[in-house]
Formats: sequence, structure tokens, C-alpha cells
Amino acid sequence: MDLLEYQGKQLFARHGLEVSDGRAVTTVDDAVSAANEVGYPVVVKAQVLIGGRGKAGGVKLAADEREAREHAQKILGMDIKGHTVRTVWIEHASDIATEYYASVLLDRSAKQPLVIFSVEGGVEIEQVAEESPEKLVRHHVDALNGLSREEAVEIATRGGADSDVIDGVADALVALYEVWLEEDATLAEINPLIVTPERKVKALDAKVSLDGNALYRHPENQGLSDSENEDPIERRAKEQGVQYVKLDGDIGILGNGAGLVMSTLDVVAQAGGAPANFLDAGGGSDAAKVKQAVDLILANDAVKAVLFNIFGGITRCDEVANGLIAAFGDIGAGGSSIPFVVRLDGTNDVQGRELLQKANLPNVHAARTMNEAAEKVVELAAAA
Ligand code: GDP
Ligand code: MN
Repeated sequence: MDLLEYQGKQLFARHGLEVSDGRAVTTVDDAVSAANEVGYPVVVKAQVLIGGRGKAGGVKLAADEREAREHAQKILGMDIKGHTVRTVWIEHASDIATEYYASVLLDRSAKQPLVIFSVEGGVEIEQVAEESPEKLVRHHVDALNGLSREEAVEIATRGGADSDVIDGVADALVALYEVWLEEDATLAEINPLIVTPERKVKALDAKVSLDGNALYRHPENQGLSDSENEDPIERRAKEQGVQYVKLDGDIGILGNGAGLVMSTLDVVAQAGGAPANFLDAGGGSDAAKVKQAVDLILANDAVKAVLFNIFGGITRCDEVANGLIAAFGDIGAGGSSIPFVVRLDGTNDVQGRELLQKANLPNVHAARTMNEAAEKVVELAAAA
């Protein structure tokens, strides 16, 4: 779950990182009032989940009320790489002596948290990594011990931070690591981490991603998801407790078990099709659950055909078939003409397929193997 800059800064402040006071607003008038409150000069910043806002014209300094209004007018509603700006963050502008970079993330291949620090801040870090990798300090942290102050001092020193701000940078790194750890973040990045002319170290930007699966441990963070920018079908699925991820293709997919759904996506792609979604129905087999899943799949207008891939284990195929028949009764009444391919295999699969056959549902094709089902659904989607 990606956070907007100002939300990330709220988390930073909670852990003692220095940030500027500001206001998040959605109208030009509120932006002007906010600017008057925080005091000029202010910076008007587009709040969208994409980097490079500065270069795109989404970050502007305003010396007075007239400029604040002008910038808010321009930035609100602006399109930045496909993201419409609905909120701007107004903060008192900082004086900058130097721009550094700092981040904490999980290095999956090393199975350790990774702290990255560079004195080449403000620019894109990928560029620094490419052009001057020696200016990037990468430090793996022992997850059980955490990041000690001594380590943080060493990182700042090795990275070449000005000697009078080594302590300030080390404090910021320790606080950033605390944000990453305690908020269950997958990424906590500051670019730029600035040094002011008064030699204070401060986070001028914030990029934080939280682990959605750990959100239940942080009730105070649950309001942070940017539901405006979330896919509406994915949001609905989340509310219903269904594992659904929208994809770009036209073949709706449902399976029971995440692994089976993943391999179904692969098999459909191998057969020349493009999956429209990932949907794990879990162990559920009753009609209401199947109906709910079908509704989610069909809410995506791009879907031309649907593949149900069910492997009967504890959930028996005859139960699933009955669930499907009941659900299709409802769907049929809704007038859907989308073809379904149903593959039933595993416990009681013969009975399950028999039930489906007897029900003689229009637009429903039974298949026995995964390959057969995939080829059939790709053919039906192409014909639609
Ligand atoms: P990004 O372009 O999306 O990464 O947005 P940032 O928040 O990093 O802002 C981009 C750039 O705008 C920064 O690197 C700074 O150079 C500049 N900037 C942002 N806030 C301030 C500020 O308070 N004062 C000054 N002088 N420059 C700022
Ligand atoms: Mn930035």
C-alpha cells in the first residue's frame, strides 16, 4: 500500500524525523488559507503516487498569497504521468544547503533489511546507482539487532555526509529504520533528506509503502489507503475479503488456492490468452461465495470469457458444482452471455461434472484438464 507524501510525513513525524508543518487541501481557496497559516514562502506540492513531481511541474514555491493561489490553481487537476492531482500539500518552504538521499527496504535476496544512503540526493537514485555507484552506501542490517546508532554513524561517514551533520544524519537513519520496522513498511524513502543552512537535517519528501497484509496490526494506518486512486473492483474485493487483483487481459479467472490461480494464469497465457484478473476463491464453495466471485469478475467490462479452475480437496467438486449451479441460476437471470469454462478435478470430480452436465447451463463448458480448459477459454474469448 503506497502512501502519499504527506501521509508518509505523518509517519515520519511519529518517529521523531524532522518534517515541515503543513496542510493537505483539495481546493484552491483552502490552499490559500493553508499557505497563510503556515507562513510564506510556502511550497505547493501535488499529492500523487508517482515520483518526479518536481520535474513535471507539480512542486512549486510561492512567495506570497498571489503565487500560492496561482500554483494551487495550476497543480490541482493537473495530470502527472496519468495521475490526476486531487490533493495538494502546502508546507512552509525550507532553505536548502544540501540534498541527501536515504532509504530502508527489504532486500529479499539477502533476506535482510537494507539501508541506502547517498550524498547525491534530489535526483533519481537509479541515476546515481548507474552513473556513480561509489556514491551509494548500501548497508545490510541484522534484523534481530536492528540498526544501531554506531552503524548509522558509520553509514553517514562512509557516504561522505558533511562532518558537522553526521550526528543529524545518523539520527535520521535510525528514525527511518524505526519507521520501516514499526510501521511494517516495505519501503521508507527520503529524497531529498536536506541539510538546512542552520545545519538541521530534515525530510523534505517521503515515499512510504506499507505491507497491506500487516495493516491489521496498525488500526491507526488503515485510513491511509488512497482509495481515490485504488481500482474500484479491487476495493470492492477487499471489502468483501476476497483476494482479487485486476490484470490487463480479457479472460476472467477464478480458482481455489493462490498457487492454483497463479498456475492458471500461466497456463492461460501459454495457450495464447490474456488473464483479466487473479481471484482466489479460497475454500469457499457455497453459492453465495461463488456468486460474489462471479460478480467481481464480470464487473470488469473487458472480460469476454471466464475460466473456473477448481481442484477438489477438502472442498469437494460436487459441492462446488452445486454452488456453481445455484450461482449461475442467479447470473442467468441477470442476462449474462459471457461463456464460462469450468474445470473440475480432484475429490468427487466425476460427480461434479455430472451435476454440471445435468444442469445443462447455457454458456457453461465443462473441461477435465487444465490445458483443455485453458485452450477452450482462449478460443471462446477470441470468438466473442
Ligand atoms: P519529487 O520531484 O516528486 O521527488 O518531489 P520532491 O518533494 O522531492 O520535490 C522536488 C524538488 O523540489 C526537491 O528536490 C527540492 O529541490 C524542491 N523543493 C521541494 N520542497 C522544497 C522547499 O521547501 N524548499 C526548496 N527550496 N525547494 C524545495
Ligand atoms: Mn523527491
